[in-house]
Amino acid sequence: MKILLIEDEQRLNMFIKNGLEQNGYIVDSCLHGSEGMEWAATCHYDLIVLDIMLPGQSGFDVLHNLRQFSIKTPVIIISALSNSEHVIKGLDAGAMDYIKKPFDFGEFLARVRAVTRKGDPRSFTKYKVQGLELDLLTRKVSVDGQSVELTKREFALLELLVTNCNRVLTKTEISEKIWEVNFDMGSNVIEVHLSQLRKKLRDDIIHTKVGIGYYIEGDLQKQ
Ligand code: CA
Repeated sequence: MKILLIEDEQRLNMFIKNGLEQNGYIVDSCLHGSEGMEWAATCHYDLIVLDIMLPGQSGFDVLHNLRQFSIKTPVIIISALSNSEHVIKGLDAGAMDYIKKPFDFGEFLARVRAVTRKGDPRSFTKYKVQGLELDLLTRKVSVDGQSVELTKREFALLELLVTNCNRVLTKTEISEKIWEVNFDMGSNVIEVHLSQLRKKLRDDIIHTKVGIGYYIEGDLQKQ
């Protein structure tokens, strides 16, 4: 799950970014409205967390421009502007939620989960295939009943492969969905993570389609 955070208060930006990362999300963060808009237009995100009072362009402008470009990524507004008028404006402009600052981080996370569930037509949280079990809510993974500890990035990689079961994912797709905006496609970072992941799982779970990409194959059960 990859999130773009556009928030110009540096400390709050770091706080939210760290908190989301500790909860397993991959986060690109920026401090400027126009820069955020550029990233949103060029990369794939599952969610955008958007402040309103920003340098460059305001959050309302970002939201408006996103919809103009037909970018349908779900947006949660976080703002100190707490009048009903602002909330109505934000929701009418297409945000899925509006959280007033200051907010409780636990509640913020629950809203992130709710919105990303809505934005995801699959909306399943548990997956089973080939003896592998993945729970997206508790972030627990097991193979043949044995639990496995994964890093945030390994989990994200496995989640992507499992939710796209029986489809080959290219390196480009994987990097777009799991790595940050400045990811170097020339590096072998994806291979390194895949090989670590394979060591932790059974080695016949993730397959390589030579010259194309990676996949998991089998009868996927969702819950
Ligand atoms: Ca601000």
